[in-house]
Amino acid sequence: MAWQSAGAFEISLADIDAARARIAGRVRRTPMEVSDDLSAIAGAPVHLKLEHHQITGSFKLRGAANAIEKLGEEARRRGIVGASTGNHGRALAHAGARAGVRTVICMSRLVPSNKVEAIYAEGGEVWIVGDSQNEAQNEAERLAADDGMIMLPPFDHPDIIAGQGTLGLEIIEEVPDLETLLIQLSGGGLAAGVALAVKSRKPNVRVVGVSMRRGAAMHASLAAGRPVEVKELPTLADSLGGGIGLRNRFTFAMVRALLDDVMLLDEPQIAEGIHHAYWKERQIVEGAGGVGIAVVLGGMVVNPGVTCLVLTGSNIDMGLHHRIAGGEAADLIGNRAGGGVSYDDDTHTP
Ligand SMILES: *Cc1c(COP(=O)(O)O)cnc(C)c1O
Repeated sequence: MAWQSAGAFEISLADIDAARARIAGRVRRTPMEVSDDLSAIAGAPVHLKLEHHQITGSFKLRGAANAIEKLGEEARRRGIVGASTGNHGRALAHAGARAGVRTVICMSRLVPSNKVEAIYAEGGEVWIVGDSQNEAQNEAERLAADDGMIMLPPFDHPDIIAGQGTLGLEIIEEVPDLETLLIQLSGGGLAAGVALAVKSRKPNVRVVGVSMRRGAAMHASLAAGRPVEVKELPTLADSLGGGIGLRNRFTFAMVRALLDDVMLLDEPQIAEGIHHAYWKERQIVEGAGGVGIAVVLGGMVVNPGVTCLVLTGSNIDMGLHHRIAGGEAADLIGNRAGGGVSYDDDTHTP
């Protein structure tokens, strides 16, 4: 396979090993548990990597910490700028504060106060600009161009991919007899890093990417054979929204070479994942965090063998979570699907 040839990608297992050493003490080694319910459904052990217990509530801290810890003195003095109001923004703010590097996250006036407060709480500066996240993104780019601040993208960057790959090292050490890995797929930083780590150690593991059907940019790009844009639609898996970038440099090629399959989920299935995580596994996950569970519940992988899936994040509006856990999901989806109404209260920046 292409990925096995040396130098096939910009990053290698050695980069992921180096990332692990670099971020040790900055990130948590998260628990791995077996789910009895899901194992019964799959007919084989299903292991859950509880990465939603990571500091900041998602795995994004691994990539952010690796990229920031790797910056030289000069870059550290200039500081970091970003426009993500979601898990990547939180992770940058946290890792920046820990490293003593100024971090500015640009946001539109319309970003809800809980998102603003989350960035503050992690130690980041918030810069309110304009009426859309596009304007905020432009301001972040201006700060990078004019003031020389460092922009760290959410997925398409070798240090981010290597950082996310550290999760893969933990997985293959904790489940050495792994046969099938279900991994969330949006921009592909997570899937690329984790698949590279896992397949470098154990080449015949089947790695299946999981996205939501509504606006699956990587899936559409793989089908087209090049990065393409898709219309962004509201989804319960909001952390999986957004494009892969028409000038994608790293993740598209890696995902294409490393993933064996991609599966797409409908909104009711995503709600089911959140619901099951809460009632059966006693875990609070966001929509993106529960999609691996939904794949198992739906029996979507035939004869998976020893399986691992990752609960990637817990950052969900708790009012929304309460409604889904209470079984309101059907109404919620019935009312909203195709209506162009956002489930959550904000833009879908990763
Ligand atoms: C960012 C994110 C993903 C997807 O990661 P990519 O590297 O963009 O593919 C999945 N789950 C959660 C909770 C996330 O925050």
